[in-house]
Amino acid sequence: MSSYEGGCACGTVRYRLTAPPLFVHCCHCHDCQRQTGSAFVLNALIETDCLELLSGAPEAHEMRTDSGRPHDIHRCPACGTAVWSDYGRRPYLRFVRVGTLDHPESITPDVHIFTRSKLPWVRVPDGARSFDVFYDMKKEWPAESQERRKRASEKAPG
Ligand SMILES: [Zn+2]
Ligand SMILES: [Zn+2]
Repeated sequence: MSSYEGGCACGTVRYRLTAPPLFVHCCHCHDCQRQTGSAFVLNALIETDCLELLSGAPEAHEMRTDSGRPHDIHRCPACGTAVWSDYGRRPYLRFVRVGTLDHPESITPDVHIFTRSKLPWVRVPDGARSFDVFYDMKKEWPAESQERRKRASEKAPG
């Protein structure tokens, strides 16, 4: 499982995913573009229980969002690298930045979302599932991931 270890740029924050992600987003929304300074963000959704902190203590930074939904980005306090997000203040779910994995190539996005604001030169791969805005979880998530998410949300408050 070494492919699921990762960390920030300075090495203070190190983490490990103890299970494969539930689902992986490539998000082309303007919030993500602004926050990363890039064309899109890669988020691996996983139960907080499956995100094991090996060292460091990421700090939550509250973001302004276009949607008005809460979004906290957790960053290394030393170098500022964003390692994961909490979208919607759901303590049981984390959105891990795939680019901070030691082997980001081990994870491929399941869906491309908010392609309405995709930069025109970015080409979504043939056959990839893509959505102008968002998608229906019940249709797109594997049954096993839906079950895992349900279990996690029932276990944790919020
Ligand atoms: Zn750091
Ligand atoms: Zn986004």
